[in-house]
Amino acid sequence: MSQEAIKNALATVKYPGFSRDIVSFGLVRSIDFNDGKAVIGISVTSNDHSVAAQIRDDIEATLTELPEVSSTEINVSINPAKKAEAPGTQATPTGIPGVKHVIAVASGKGGVGKSTFSSNLACAISNLIASEGKRVGLLDCDIYGPSIPLMMGVGGRPEIEDESIIPIESHGIKIMSMGFLVDDDTPVVWRGPMIQKTISQFINNVKWGDLEIIVVDLPPGTGDAQLSLVQTIPLRGAIIVTTPQLAATQVAKRGARMLEKTNVPILGVAENMSYLESPDGSKSYIFGEGGGQQTATDLGVELLGQIPLDPSIREAGDKGTPITVANPESASAVAFEAIARTVVGLL
Ligand code: ADP
Repeated sequence: MSQEAIKNALATVKYPGFSRDIVSFGLVRSIDFNDGKAVIGISVTSNDHSVAAQIRDDIEATLTELPEVSSTEINVSINPAKKAEAPGTQATPTGIPGVKHVIAVASGKGGVGKSTFSSNLACAISNLIASEGKRVGLLDCDIYGPSIPLMMGVGGRPEIEDESIIPIESHGIKIMSMGFLVDDDTPVVWRGPMIQKTISQFINNVKWGDLEIIVVDLPPGTGDAQLSLVQTIPLRGAIIVTTPQLAATQVAKRGARMLEKTNVPILGVAENMSYLESPDGSKSYIFGEGGGQQTATDLGVELLGQIPLDPSIREAGDKGTPITVANPESASAVAFEAIARTVVGLL
């Protein structure tokens, strides 16, 4: 039996509590197969030993079902979560203490309004659940142009307490951003290598507190940097943001395929800049029509909603108060609210 066949079997073993598998999370370190005996090396980064035990049991159960396998030896090495930050050590998601769901907002390319969408989604979700005492976080991983601090009206450096970073709060949302840590003149070539380690810290070393949802603003694009980033974050699912022109669907689908490679479920597609509404209520489809629906259909997921092209969305973002906070009654804010409602319902 080939190592590849065993690896395929291991790819059906889920990380406890997640929909993603242990292979895509990078836990499998070695696979040997000789005379019916499968010897598997696993490295688990977690402070919770029951996670390792569960993974070991699940691997055992999966492999013994294979007719070619007569015995198994599963060697698990456990690294406490903090060691994950050592250079060269790939962090494996352990779940963030106190945080119930982590969802990502992704796009195939920049400029589609991904950060605008992320900040408004976080605020719209908060508007819906704050009265139940539930809190929302926003994690800006856009290394190339972190715009969340500007859009949420925050700046400065976060405080450190007991070796943990305290997120900065604005509009009731707990925020962490690469923008708090790199200044504008940090050369972009340094950012790539920095990101993996920094994002691991955002996951392991930030005192998020009790949160219902963290919304993650992913960097645009579908390259290796984005892929390894997605593998570092314990994502429940992702939303793809696209613009309405049909040409954009190809790019959006590339983004979705990257997420699928890592078994992150696509929760749905949001179309941004869908139409410009005139005071008389008529709509102009400046950027074309149908891209969001087409992308959703092609991916076999739901179109979560359409956000109009609305100068007040941009103005609100530029002023640091997203429209969902500045003017929650406006048509644009209501469009964000409807999407937020659907997303909360999906979790
Ligand atoms: P991305 O994160 O995809 O690069 P941004 O969220 O930074 O995109 O948005 C790019 C620009 O477009 C910003 O100036 C933003 O204010 C503006 N923008 C985004 N969505 C809308 C919208 N629905 N209506 C008007 N302006 C928008």
